[in-house]
Amino acid sequence: MKSELKYHIWTEGCQMNVADSRRVSSALERLGYRGTPRPEEADVIVLNTCVVRQSAENKAVGRLFSLKPLKKRNPGLVINLMGCLVGVKGHDKLRQRFPFVDVFSPPSDPGPLIAHLTQEEVRSLETESTQRRFALMDGDLLLPEAERGKLVSAFIPVVYGCSHACTYCIIPYKRGVERSRPAEEILTEARALVRQGVKEITLLGQIVDRYGKDIPDGPKLWDLLHRLHEEVEGLERIRFLTSHPNWMTDELLDAVAELPRVMPHIEVPIQAGNDEVLKNMRREYTAEDYRRLIGKIRARIPGASIATDIIVGFPGESAAQFQDTYDLLAELELDVAHLARYSPRPGTVSARRMPDDVTEEEKWRRFRLLEELQEGIAAEINARYQGEQVEVLFEDKVKGRWRGRTPTNKLVFVESEADLRGQILPVTITWTGPWSMQGALPLAKPQGGIPVPFHNA
Ligand code: SAH
Repeated sequence: MKSELKYHIWTEGCQMNVADSRRVSSALERLGYRGTPRPEEADVIVLNTCVVRQSAENKAVGRLFSLKPLKKRNPGLVINLMGCLVGVKGHDKLRQRFPFVDVFSPPSDPGPLIAHLTQEEVRSLETESTQRRFALMDGDLLLPEAERGKLVSAFIPVVYGCSHACTYCIIPYKRGVERSRPAEEILTEARALVRQGVKEITLLGQIVDRYGKDIPDGPKLWDLLHRLHEEVEGLERIRFLTSHPNWMTDELLDAVAELPRVMPHIEVPIQAGNDEVLKNMRREYTAEDYRRLIGKIRARIPGASIATDIIVGFPGESAAQFQDTYDLLAELELDVAHLARYSPRPGTVSARRMPDDVTEEEKWRRFRLLEELQEGIAAEINARYQGEQVEVLFEDKVKGRWRGRTPTNKLVFVESEADLRGQILPVTITWTGPWSMQGALPLAKPQGGIPVPFHNA
């Protein structure tokens, strides 16, 4: 038996997968495993996969095949395929296609891997592994060793799955029906994360503003925001994503407006700016509804930043319909637009019933037009920050510069020799671009002395 067992996790896709991978790390470390960035030296390799578009699925499958030689060299290696490539509906076909995979896990569930590993360990290490298994039960999320005391911003999934069924979307098939987590469990997890150094928490759900609506008399997202705000000491910032326009209630906007530690940033995808296309996508709102919502957000939360998602080249989208999306995006001037080219996903309504009739070339053309438009809008919005002082929460140092975010989720880089990790400091913005900004810490002048960098530690 080797003295130290090692694991390697590869994560693809959305923030939910990042959160799920962290949970797997936590469970593995409780079993005594240690993380390694090198798959060649790992005893357990987890691939946490995404299939939201064909390109993501291709990447996951490519990565999986690249592990085959490692498994051949080391038959004891445990390969765990996890996430949306596996899904919640069984994996017999995958087992045939990838016989070298040892364990298949649905999204968000470290259970199958841990059961596999502990069974194997029980043979060699009976009592100890039983104790370790109990340690796993206490529900507290223990951050992986490499992140404990270092991770500043963490995710907490609050709604698993999705029951909306937009016609293009594979997520409900892969992540199952909508299930909200009990508020107490979320609060416990938030406290555990804060105890381990986390300052900012982002609540996650496919439609996060539906939180609690699947539980009779359940708490709503605004209740949860209030409770996190009031009951979790040391939590400096709270965010949530992604919202669906139809569930963005006044109570929710009020909570964001009134609670100082809930950040003024809303992620609310429009997907298309033409009513016919929206109907075919089964989004259940109109372009005018969305326009009104943006107006309401801006009136209720002045200075809020807003991010959206858009799919170009949905089946049947004409040039004129695309132009509606372009014009609306130009009119609304949102801070961020995540753009995607339509990709038919097996099993979805659009893939079964609507021909993928916009050519790849045309999808790319529309994509680039929106990209260029949005770059200009973002550059203009961000330029308004020039010379302003903003509060930045610093997360980490990349290539010699500290990286942090403003309350509105703008990325800010600052040069400093001090250790800024986890601190919220006022920063004067000295340069802005469409995707990030640079700033400087103000100089504090002690009486009669030479100026020293301001520091609130
Ligand atoms: N439930 C969340 C996230 C869904 S996935 C939401 O409603 O926003 C993230 C984004 O991927 C979606 O917002 C959508 O813009 C894009 N997307 C989803 N399915 C897609 C598909 N079949 N082709 C292209 N983009 C897709």
